[in-house]
Amino acid sequence: MNIHEHQAKAVLKEFGVAVPRGFPAYSPQEAKKAAETLAKEAGSKVFVVKSQIHAGGRGKGRFEGLGPDAKGGVRVVKTPDDVKSNADEMLGRVLVTIQTGPAGKQVNRLYIEEGADIAKELYLSLLVDRVSSKVSVVASTEGGMSIEDVAHDTPEKIHSFTIDPATGVWPTHARALAQALNLKGDLAKQGAKLLSQLYAAFTAKDMDMLEINPLIVTGDDKLLVLDAKCSFDSNALFRHPDMVELRDVTEEDEKEIEASKYDLSYIALDGEIGCMVNGAGLAMATLDIIKLYGSEPANFLDVGGGATTEKVTAAFKIITSDPKVKGILVNIFGGIMKCDIIAQGVIVAVKEVGLKVPLVVRLEGTNVELGKKILNESGLNVIAADDLADAAAKIVKAVKG
Ligand code: ADP
Ligand code: MG
Repeated sequence: MNIHEHQAKAVLKEFGVAVPRGFPAYSPQEAKKAAETLAKEAGSKVFVVKSQIHAGGRGKGRFEGLGPDAKGGVRVVKTPDDVKSNADEMLGRVLVTIQTGPAGKQVNRLYIEEGADIAKELYLSLLVDRVSSKVSVVASTEGGMSIEDVAHDTPEKIHSFTIDPATGVWPTHARALAQALNLKGDLAKQGAKLLSQLYAAFTAKDMDMLEINPLIVTGDDKLLVLDAKCSFDSNALFRHPDMVELRDVTEEDEKEIEASKYDLSYIALDGEIGCMVNGAGLAMATLDIIKLYGSEPANFLDVGGGATTEKVTAAFKIITSDPKVKGILVNIFGGIMKCDIIAQGVIVAVKEVGLKVPLVVRLEGTNVELGKKILNESGLNVIAADDLADAAAKIVKAVKG
Protein backbone atom coordinates (compact mmCIF):
# COMPACT_ATOMS: atom_id res chain seq x y z
CA MET A 1 0.00 0.00 0.00
CA ASN A 2 1.23 3.46 -0.90
CA ILE A 3 0.50 6.74 0.85
CA HIS A 4 0.82 10.39 -0.14
CA GLU A 5 3.92 12.50 0.38
CA HIS A 6 2.31 14.65 3.07
CA GLN A 7 1.23 11.53 4.99
CA ALA A 8 4.68 9.99 4.70
CA LYS A 9 6.21 13.19 6.05
CA ALA A 10 3.79 13.17 8.99
CA VAL A 11 4.79 9.58 9.77
CA LEU A 12 8.49 10.44 9.59
CA LYS A 13 7.97 13.48 11.81
CA GLU A 14 6.68 11.17 14.55
CA PHE A 15 10.12 9.57 14.49
CA GLY A 16 11.85 12.93 14.88
CA VAL A 17 12.77 13.45 11.22
CA ALA A 18 13.12 17.09 10.14
CA VAL A 19 10.58 17.98 7.42
CA PRO A 20 9.33 21.37 6.20
CA ARG A 21 6.07 22.70 7.63
CA GLY A 22 3.03 22.22 5.46
CA PHE A 23 -0.68 21.53 5.20
CA PRO A 24 -2.72 19.38 2.82
CA ALA A 25 -5.38 21.26 0.82
CA TYR A 26 -8.36 20.08 -1.18
CA SER A 27 -9.54 23.41 -2.57
CA PRO A 28 -7.91 26.67 -3.77
CA GLN A 29 -9.34 28.47 -0.71
CA GLU A 30 -7.83 25.90 1.63
CA ALA A 31 -4.52 26.20 -0.23
CA LYS A 32 -4.46 29.97 0.21
CA LYS A 33 -5.33 29.66 3.88
CA ALA A 34 -2.51 27.14 4.36
CA ALA A 35 -0.04 29.60 2.81
CA GLU A 36 -1.31 32.44 5.01
CA THR A 37 -0.86 30.27 8.08
CA LEU A 38 2.69 29.39 7.01
CA ALA A 39 3.43 33.08 6.47
CA LYS A 40 2.04 34.05 9.83
CA GLU A 41 3.40 31.22 11.97
CA ALA A 42 6.69 30.48 10.26
CA GLY A 43 7.35 33.73 8.44
CA SER A 44 7.43 31.86 5.11
CA LYS A 45 8.02 34.02 2.05
CA VAL A 46 8.21 31.19 -0.47
CA PHE A 47 5.54 28.51 -0.82
CA VAL A 48 5.53 25.24 -2.70
CA VAL A 49 2.31 23.87 -4.17
CA LYS A 50 2.75 20.11 -4.49
CA SER A 51 0.40 17.73 -6.31
CA GLN A 52 -0.39 14.72 -4.15
CA ILE A 53 -0.61 11.60 -6.31
CA HIS A 54 0.81 8.14 -5.73
CA ALA A 55 3.58 8.62 -8.28
CA GLY A 56 6.90 10.39 -8.48
CA GLY A 57 8.29 12.63 -11.20
CA ARG A 58 5.69 15.30 -10.37
CA GLY A 59 8.10 18.20 -10.69
CA LYS A 60 8.87 17.33 -14.30
CA GLY A 61 5.29 16.16 -14.95
CA ARG A 62 2.87 17.85 -17.36
CA PHE A 63 -0.77 18.67 -16.81
CA GLU A 64 -3.23 17.58 -19.47
CA GLY A 65 -4.94 20.52 -21.11
CA LEU A 66 -2.18 23.00 -20.25
CA GLY A 67 0.43 23.86 -22.86
CA PRO A 68 3.98 22.47 -22.80
CA ASP A 69 5.20 25.74 -21.26
CA ALA A 70 2.91 25.45 -18.23
CA LYS A 71 4.56 24.66 -14.91
CA GLY A 72 4.67 21.05 -13.64
CA GLY A 73 3.16 19.31 -10.64
CA VAL A 74 5.42 20.99 -8.05
CA ARG A 75 5.37 24.79 -8.15
CA VAL A 76 7.36 27.32 -6.17
CA VAL A 77 5.46 30.61 -5.71
CA LYS A 78 5.78 33.82 -3.72
CA THR A 79 2.38 34.82 -2.32
CA PRO A 80 -0.75 33.16 -0.86
CA ASP A 81 -2.70 34.54 -3.85
CA ASP A 82 -0.30 32.80 -6.24
CA VAL A 83 -0.76 29.64 -4.21
CA LYS A 84 -4.49 29.99 -4.75
CA SER A 85 -4.36 30.58 -8.50
CA ASN A 86 -1.92 27.70 -9.02
CA ALA A 87 -4.04 25.43 -6.84
CA ASP A 88 -7.04 26.38 -8.93
CA GLU A 89 -5.20 25.37 -12.10
CA MET A 90 -3.86 22.09 -10.65
CA LEU A 91 -6.79 20.62 -8.71
CA GLY A 92 -8.99 18.27 -10.71
CA ARG A 93 -6.49 18.19 -13.55
CA VAL A 94 -4.69 15.07 -14.81
CA LEU A 95 -0.93 15.06 -14.21
CA VAL A 96 1.22 12.86 -16.43
CA THR A 97 4.67 11.89 -15.12
CA ILE A 98 7.19 9.23 -16.09
CA GLN A 99 5.80 7.12 -13.26
CA THR A 100 2.07 7.47 -13.98
CA GLY A 101 2.18 6.16 -17.53
CA PRO A 102 0.48 8.07 -20.37
CA ALA A 103 -2.96 7.96 -18.70
CA GLY A 104 -1.71 10.14 -15.84
CA LYS A 105 -3.41 10.65 -12.49
CA GLN A 106 -5.97 13.19 -11.44
CA VAL A 107 -4.77 15.58 -8.74
CA ASN A 108 -7.39 15.66 -5.98
CA ARG A 109 -5.29 17.10 -3.21
CA LEU A 110 -2.31 19.38 -2.80
CA TYR A 111 0.32 19.85 -0.16
CA ILE A 112 1.20 23.45 0.61
CA GLU A 113 4.68 23.56 2.03
CA GLU A 114 7.16 26.22 3.10
CA GLY A 115 9.86 26.80 0.52
CA ALA A 116 13.27 25.47 1.51
CA ASP A 117 16.65 27.04 0.81
CA ILE A 118 18.34 24.28 -1.20
CA ALA A 119 22.16 24.17 -1.27
CA LYS A 120 22.41 20.56 -2.44
CA GLU A 121 20.00 17.78 -3.39
CA LEU A 122 20.87 14.24 -2.27
CA TYR A 123 19.19 10.86 -2.69
CA LEU A 124 18.48 8.36 0.08
CA SER A 125 16.22 5.32 0.17
CA LEU A 126 15.61 2.24 2.27
CA LEU A 127 14.09 -0.93 0.89
CA VAL A 128 13.65 -4.55 1.75
CA ASP A 129 16.33 -6.55 0.00
CA ARG A 130 14.81 -9.97 -0.49
CA VAL A 131 18.06 -11.54 -1.64
CA SER A 132 20.03 -10.76 1.52
CA SER A 133 16.95 -10.59 3.81
CA LYS A 134 18.22 -7.22 5.02
CA VAL A 135 17.30 -3.57 4.70
CA SER A 136 19.12 -2.06 1.81
CA VAL A 137 20.17 1.60 1.95
CA VAL A 138 20.73 3.36 -1.37
CA ALA A 139 22.40 6.77 -1.36
CA SER A 140 23.73 9.23 -3.89
CA THR A 141 25.07 12.77 -3.94
CA GLU A 142 23.20 13.24 -7.22
CA GLY A 143 19.66 13.57 -5.84
CA GLY A 144 16.78 15.49 -7.35
CA MET A 145 14.61 15.13 -10.36
CA SER A 146 17.06 13.27 -12.61
CA ILE A 147 17.94 10.31 -10.39
CA GLU A 148 16.70 7.89 -13.09
CA ASP A 149 19.27 9.36 -15.52
CA VAL A 150 22.01 9.09 -12.88
CA ALA A 151 21.15 5.42 -12.32
CA HIS A 152 21.28 4.83 -16.06
CA ASP A 153 24.25 6.95 -17.13
CA THR A 154 26.52 6.98 -14.07
CA PRO A 155 25.56 4.03 -11.85
CA GLU A 156 28.88 4.35 -10.00
CA LYS A 157 27.47 7.48 -8.34
CA ILE A 158 24.85 5.38 -6.57
CA HIS A 159 26.06 3.62 -3.43
CA SER A 160 24.38 0.98 -1.35
CA PHE A 161 24.90 -1.03 1.81
CA THR A 162 22.68 -3.25 3.91
CA ILE A 163 21.53 -3.15 7.54
CA ASP A 164 20.90 -6.46 9.26
CA PRO A 165 17.54 -6.34 11.05
CA ALA A 166 19.03 -8.56 13.77
CA THR A 167 21.46 -5.82 14.80
CA GLY A 168 19.92 -2.58 13.49
CA VAL A 169 21.91 0.55 12.66
CA TRP A 170 25.58 0.53 13.67
CA PRO A 171 28.12 3.37 13.59
CA THR A 172 29.67 1.72 10.55
CA HIS A 173 26.41 2.28 8.64
CA ALA A 174 26.45 5.94 9.59
CA ARG A 175 30.02 6.21 8.28
CA ALA A 176 29.04 4.44 5.07
CA LEU A 177 26.20 6.93 4.63
CA ALA A 178 28.41 9.95 5.30
CA GLN A 179 30.88 8.67 2.74
CA ALA A 180 28.20 7.93 0.14
CA LEU A 181 26.62 11.37 0.56
CA ASN A 182 29.93 13.17 1.11
CA LEU A 183 28.76 14.58 4.45
CA LYS A 184 31.42 16.08 6.72
CA GLY A 185 31.51 17.28 10.33
CA ASP A 186 28.15 18.22 11.75
CA LEU A 187 26.35 17.17 8.57
CA ALA A 188 27.76 13.66 8.99
CA LYS A 189 26.35 13.64 12.53
CA GLN A 190 22.97 14.77 11.24
CA GLY A 191 23.13 12.02 8.62
CA ALA A 192 23.79 9.40 11.32
CA LYS A 193 20.81 10.60 13.33
CA LEU A 194 18.59 10.71 10.24
CA LEU A 195 19.56 7.17 9.24
CA SER A 196 18.58 5.87 12.69
CA GLN A 197 15.27 7.73 12.56
CA LEU A 198 14.42 6.52 9.06
CA TYR A 199 15.39 2.97 9.92
CA ALA A 200 13.23 3.10 13.06
CA ALA A 201 10.25 4.34 11.05
CA PHE A 202 10.87 1.80 8.30
CA THR A 203 10.93 -1.21 10.61
CA ALA A 204 8.30 -0.02 13.12
CA LYS A 205 5.76 0.56 10.36
CA ASP A 206 6.68 -2.48 8.22
CA MET A 207 7.51 -0.38 5.18
CA ASP A 208 8.92 -2.08 2.13
CA MET A 209 10.17 1.10 0.51
CA LEU A 210 11.02 4.58 1.78
CA GLU A 211 12.50 6.99 -0.73
CA ILE A 212 13.75 10.46 0.16
CA ASN A 213 14.47 12.34 -3.04
CA PRO A 214 15.61 14.93 -2.55
CA LEU A 215 17.13 14.93 0.87
CA ILE A 216 18.59 18.41 0.95
CA VAL A 217 21.41 20.29 2.60
CA THR A 218 20.00 23.74 3.36
CA GLY A 219 21.82 27.05 3.04
CA ASP A 220 22.51 26.91 6.78
CA ASP A 221 23.85 23.35 6.65
CA LYS A 222 20.88 21.37 7.87
CA LEU A 223 19.64 18.08 6.42
CA LEU A 224 15.98 18.29 5.48
CA VAL A 225 13.63 15.72 3.95
CA LEU A 226 12.02 17.49 0.99
CA ASP A 227 10.18 14.61 -0.62
CA ALA A 228 9.09 11.28 0.82
CA LYS A 229 7.64 8.28 -0.93
CA CYS A 230 6.67 5.32 1.14
CA SER A 231 4.98 1.98 0.69
CA PHE A 232 4.01 -0.64 3.22
CA ASP A 233 4.16 -4.41 3.14
CA SER A 234 0.48 -5.31 2.59
CA ASN A 235 0.92 -8.56 4.47
CA ALA A 236 1.78 -6.63 7.64
CA LEU A 237 -1.00 -4.04 7.42
CA PHE A 238 -3.08 -5.90 9.99
CA ARG A 239 -0.55 -4.69 12.56
CA HIS A 240 -0.98 -1.05 11.53
CA PRO A 241 -4.61 0.10 11.56
CA ASP A 242 -3.36 3.72 11.77
CA MET A 243 -1.52 3.29 8.46
CA VAL A 244 -4.49 1.55 6.82
CA GLU A 245 -6.48 4.70 7.59
CA LEU A 246 -4.11 6.62 5.30
CA ARG A 247 -5.13 4.50 2.31
CA ASP A 248 -6.50 6.59 -0.58
CA VAL A 249 -8.53 4.24 -2.75
CA THR A 250 -8.97 6.91 -5.44
CA GLU A 251 -5.28 6.29 -6.23
CA GLU A 252 -5.71 2.56 -6.71
CA ASP A 253 -6.92 0.44 -9.61
CA GLU A 254 -10.67 -0.13 -9.12
CA LYS A 255 -10.34 -3.74 -10.20
CA GLU A 256 -7.60 -4.31 -7.61
CA ILE A 257 -9.79 -2.79 -4.87
CA GLU A 258 -12.70 -5.03 -5.85
CA ALA A 259 -10.39 -8.06 -5.90
CA SER A 260 -9.08 -7.26 -2.41
CA LYS A 261 -12.67 -7.37 -1.09
CA TYR A 262 -12.85 -11.02 -2.14
CA ASP A 263 -9.33 -11.77 -1.00
CA LEU A 264 -8.21 -12.48 -4.57
CA SER A 265 -4.60 -11.87 -5.56
CA TYR A 266 -5.12 -9.63 -8.57
CA ILE A 267 -2.67 -7.34 -10.33
CA ALA A 268 -3.77 -5.35 -13.37
CA LEU A 269 -1.35 -5.59 -16.32
CA ASP A 270 -1.30 -3.94 -19.75
CA GLY A 271 -2.04 -6.82 -22.13
CA GLU A 272 -5.17 -8.22 -23.78
CA ILE A 273 -5.69 -11.71 -22.36
CA GLY A 274 -7.52 -11.94 -19.06
CA CYS A 275 -6.37 -14.83 -16.89
CA MET A 276 -8.04 -16.77 -14.11
CA VAL A 277 -5.68 -19.24 -12.52
CA ASN A 278 -5.26 -21.00 -9.19
CA GLY A 279 -1.91 -20.86 -7.48
CA ALA A 280 0.66 -18.11 -7.87
CA GLY A 281 3.17 -20.39 -9.57
CA LEU A 282 0.72 -21.59 -12.18
CA ALA A 283 -0.46 -18.00 -12.67
CA MET A 284 3.11 -16.87 -13.36
CA ALA A 285 3.63 -19.77 -15.75
CA THR A 286 0.41 -18.83 -17.53
CA LEU A 287 1.59 -15.24 -18.02
CA ASP A 288 4.88 -16.53 -19.39
CA ILE A 289 3.31 -18.92 -21.85
CA ILE A 290 0.87 -16.28 -23.13
CA LYS A 291 3.89 -14.14 -23.94
CA LEU A 292 5.65 -17.13 -25.50
CA TYR A 293 2.71 -17.60 -27.86
CA GLY A 294 2.87 -13.97 -28.91
CA SER A 295 0.38 -12.07 -26.79
CA GLU A 296 0.32 -10.18 -23.47
CA PRO A 297 -1.61 -10.90 -20.26
CA ALA A 298 -4.13 -8.30 -19.02
CA ASN A 299 -3.75 -9.35 -15.42
CA PHE A 300 -2.29 -11.68 -12.86
CA LEU A 301 -5.06 -13.42 -10.93
CA ASP A 302 -4.70 -16.17 -8.40
CA VAL A 303 -8.11 -17.29 -7.13
CA GLY A 304 -6.40 -19.26 -4.41
CA GLY A 305 -6.88 -22.76 -3.08
CA GLY A 306 -10.30 -22.85 -1.44
CA ALA A 307 -12.19 -20.52 -3.77
CA THR A 308 -15.99 -20.58 -3.59
CA THR A 309 -18.38 -20.11 -6.51
CA GLU A 310 -18.94 -16.56 -5.23
CA LYS A 311 -15.23 -15.80 -5.32
CA VAL A 312 -14.80 -17.26 -8.80
CA THR A 313 -17.80 -15.24 -10.00
CA ALA A 314 -16.28 -12.05 -8.58
CA ALA A 315 -12.96 -12.86 -10.24
CA PHE A 316 -14.59 -13.44 -13.60
CA LYS A 317 -16.52 -10.17 -13.34
CA ILE A 318 -13.34 -8.25 -12.55
CA ILE A 319 -11.66 -9.72 -15.62
CA THR A 320 -14.58 -8.96 -17.96
CA SER A 321 -14.93 -5.40 -16.63
CA ASP A 322 -11.52 -4.59 -18.10
CA PRO A 323 -12.05 -3.04 -21.56
CA LYS A 324 -8.54 -4.14 -22.61
CA VAL A 325 -9.50 -7.81 -22.33
CA LYS A 326 -9.93 -9.37 -25.79
CA GLY A 327 -10.04 -12.96 -24.61
CA ILE A 328 -10.06 -14.97 -21.38
CA LEU A 329 -7.97 -17.93 -20.37
CA VAL A 330 -9.10 -20.00 -17.40
CA ASN A 331 -6.33 -22.33 -16.32
CA ILE A 332 -7.10 -24.46 -13.29
CA PHE A 333 -5.17 -27.30 -11.82
CA GLY A 334 -7.63 -28.65 -9.29
CA GLY A 335 -5.98 -29.85 -6.13
CA ILE A 336 -7.71 -28.30 -3.15
CA MET A 337 -9.61 -26.22 -5.70
CA LYS A 338 -12.27 -28.28 -7.43
CA CYS A 339 -12.83 -28.01 -11.17
CA ASP A 340 -16.64 -28.13 -10.85
CA ILE A 341 -16.60 -25.06 -8.57
CA ILE A 342 -14.64 -23.16 -11.19
CA ALA A 343 -17.03 -24.28 -13.93
CA GLN A 344 -20.03 -23.17 -11.89
CA GLY A 345 -18.45 -19.82 -11.06
CA VAL A 346 -17.71 -19.17 -14.72
CA ILE A 347 -21.29 -19.97 -15.70
CA VAL A 348 -22.85 -17.83 -12.97
CA ALA A 349 -20.61 -14.92 -13.90
CA VAL A 350 -21.25 -15.24 -17.63
CA LYS A 351 -25.01 -15.30 -16.99
CA GLU A 352 -24.69 -12.08 -15.01
CA VAL A 353 -22.29 -10.11 -17.13
CA GLY A 354 -22.39 -11.84 -20.51
CA LEU A 355 -19.44 -13.05 -22.52
CA LYS A 356 -18.35 -10.87 -25.41
CA VAL A 357 -14.87 -12.29 -25.92
CA PRO A 358 -13.50 -15.79 -26.61
CA LEU A 359 -13.05 -18.01 -23.54
CA VAL A 360 -10.57 -20.85 -23.37
CA VAL A 361 -10.79 -23.19 -20.40
CA ARG A 362 -8.19 -25.69 -19.35
CA LEU A 363 -9.20 -27.83 -16.39
CA GLU A 364 -7.18 -30.59 -14.78
CA GLY A 365 -7.35 -32.39 -11.46
CA THR A 366 -10.06 -32.89 -8.83
CA ASN A 367 -13.56 -33.27 -10.31
CA VAL A 368 -12.28 -32.46 -13.80
CA GLU A 369 -14.87 -34.63 -15.58
CA LEU A 370 -17.70 -33.00 -13.66
CA GLY A 371 -16.29 -29.55 -14.41
CA LYS A 372 -16.05 -30.29 -18.13
CA LYS A 373 -19.57 -31.71 -18.14
CA ILE A 374 -20.97 -28.60 -16.48
CA LEU A 375 -19.28 -26.39 -19.08
CA ASN A 376 -20.31 -28.60 -22.03
CA GLU A 377 -23.94 -28.61 -20.94
CA SER A 378 -24.02 -24.89 -20.22
CA GLY A 379 -24.47 -23.89 -23.85
CA LEU A 380 -21.63 -21.38 -23.43
CA ASN A 381 -19.21 -20.90 -26.25
CA VAL A 382 -16.21 -22.32 -24.41
CA ILE A 383 -13.09 -23.48 -26.21
CA ALA A 384 -11.75 -26.49 -24.33
CA ALA A 385 -8.00 -27.01 -24.03
CA ASP A 386 -6.01 -30.03 -22.94
CA ASP A 387 -2.84 -28.62 -21.47
CA LEU A 388 -1.11 -25.33 -20.78
CA ALA A 389 0.53 -24.98 -24.19
CA ASP A 390 -2.65 -25.95 -26.01
CA ALA A 391 -4.63 -23.42 -23.93
CA ALA A 392 -2.20 -20.59 -24.63
CA ALA A 393 -2.05 -21.36 -28.34
CA LYS A 394 -5.86 -21.44 -28.56
CA ILE A 395 -6.52 -18.19 -26.72
CA VAL A 396 -3.83 -16.31 -28.65
CA LYS A 397 -5.25 -17.64 -31.92
CA ALA A 398 -8.80 -16.69 -30.86
CA VAL A 399 -7.69 -13.14 -30.03
CA LYS A 400 -5.35 -12.54 -32.92
CA GLY A 401 -7.50 -14.40 -35.45
P1 ADP B 1 8.86 14.74 -7.51
O1 ADP B 1 9.95 13.85 -7.03
O2 ADP B 1 7.56 14.01 -7.62
O3 ADP B 1 9.20 15.48 -8.74
P2 ADP B 1 9.57 16.52 -5.30
O4 ADP B 1 8.85 16.66 -4.02
O5 ADP B 1 10.86 15.79 -5.25
O6 ADP B 1 8.58 15.85 -6.37
O7 ADP B 1 9.77 17.98 -5.89
C1 ADP B 1 10.49 18.20 -7.09
C2 ADP B 1 11.53 19.27 -6.86
O8 ADP B 1 10.89 20.45 -6.39
C3 ADP B 1 12.56 18.93 -5.80
O9 ADP B 1 13.64 18.20 -6.36
C4 ADP B 1 12.96 20.28 -5.30
O10 ADP B 1 13.96 20.83 -6.14
C5 ADP B 1 11.70 21.12 -5.46
N1 ADP B 1 10.98 21.21 -4.16
C6 ADP B 1 10.13 20.32 -3.63
N2 ADP B 1 9.69 20.72 -2.43
C7 ADP B 1 10.28 21.90 -2.16
C8 ADP B 1 10.27 22.81 -1.06
N3 ADP B 1 9.52 22.59 0.02
N4 ADP B 1 11.04 23.94 -1.16
C9 ADP B 1 11.79 24.17 -2.25
N5 ADP B 1 11.86 23.36 -3.31
C10 ADP B 1 11.12 22.22 -3.28
MG1 MG C 1 11.12 13.72 -5.50
